[in-house]
Amino acid sequence: MTEKSFQTKSIREGHEPTNEQEHSAAIFLTSSYKFNSAEEAAKRFDKKEEGNVYSRFTNPTVDAFQNKLAALEGAEKCQATASGMSAIFATIMTILKPGEHMVASRCMFGTTIVLLNDIIEKFEIKVTFVDLPNLDDWASNVQTNTKLFLLETPSNPLGEVVDIKKLSSIAKSNNIVLAVDNCIMSPALQKPLSLGADLVIHSATKYIDGQGRCLAGAVAGKASIIDDISSFTRSTGPTLSAFNAWIVLKGLETLNLRMRAHCESAMTLASWLESQAFVEQVHYVGLNNHPHHEIASKQQSGFGGIVSFQVKGGRKEAFKLINNTKMISITANLGDTKTTITHPSSTTHVRLSDDEKKQTHITENLIRISVGLENVEDIIADLKP
Ligand SMILES: *Cc1c(COP(=O)(O)O)cnc(C)c1O
Repeated sequence: MTEKSFQTKSIREGHEPTNEQEHSAAIFLTSSYKFNSAEEAAKRFDKKEEGNVYSRFTNPTVDAFQNKLAALEGAEKCQATASGMSAIFATIMTILKPGEHMVASRCMFGTTIVLLNDIIEKFEIKVTFVDLPNLDDWASNVQTNTKLFLLETPSNPLGEVVDIKKLSSIAKSNNIVLAVDNCIMSPALQKPLSLGADLVIHSATKYIDGQGRCLAGAVAGKASIIDDISSFTRSTGPTLSAFNAWIVLKGLETLNLRMRAHCESAMTLASWLESQAFVEQVHYVGLNNHPHHEIASKQQSGFGGIVSFQVKGGRKEAFKLINNTKMISITANLGDTKTTITHPSSTTHVRLSDDEKKQTHITENLIRISVGLENVEDIIADLKP
């Protein structure tokens, strides 16, 4: 049989109808499952027989989401979690022991940086932050006890990109697990596992739901690692609810179509911004003049929906532009049908020190837009001074 296309898999994979022959996946809101006999219960608890026991372990709606996402990422297996943060935490806790070391990109989601700085440290796990695109920086910070590389590419908000294939060969030659947070691209635009990554992490809260309705997360990759992550989530409890699993499952069906539309509008908006007198610089990896355009063109099949730009002036001018909008939502969420606008320096990146802001180029005149699915002409009209 020929391999089905991504678009077809996103519609057809994952859900197996029950005896009710439901055409759309059902929501199994049940905490536990009953057994036909005491013997069956004993076998299930002893893991001698496959089957549902309790929804902290497995649930048919959650399974359908995991199976579909695994198919779309080209992963052997997937473990869903309650949020993106619990997916990242479960990954770190599974891969690393006290006394071990990981290397992480400096340009990651704000709460990921807080997790690494304030929480992970308590487990006596050491973290070194490096410059995302700089392969020498990753290689030179490897220690004998380094077990994990963690990153997002392209970075948010500036769209910096690392060559995943080249980084994976550094990871492989040092027996390091390479985990890529693929939230900003989604599997519709980038498949890190096919480029050599071991794990893909998701905040399904963003593009996978795509409509701003719920929190969800997942980790996908090699079955041996995912099984260990599943053991961690079973016993610590950041389980995805069946209801939220159903929302993100249905979100995956339209993911590819939505991502193409986000990309198209982001490109139109970025090009328009470049020609505006109030704009100092536009940061969109889809533009030819972005420093990482070439590598992004190779490893991504689209450039995504996040456009950042610097206005002429400072914080005052940036706030003025944000406050002038009437339709666009002032909120830090991204990956929604609704276009959102935010000032990273005072919101998503406010916990960074002045030095860290400088290193990651989060300036006072920087604005981030997550381009939604409204007509792009209406988005542009709302940004005109
Ligand atoms: C939002 C986000 C997260 C955290 O996900 P939650 O679902 O909010 O816990 C992690 N990584 C990236 C890149 C994000 O944008």
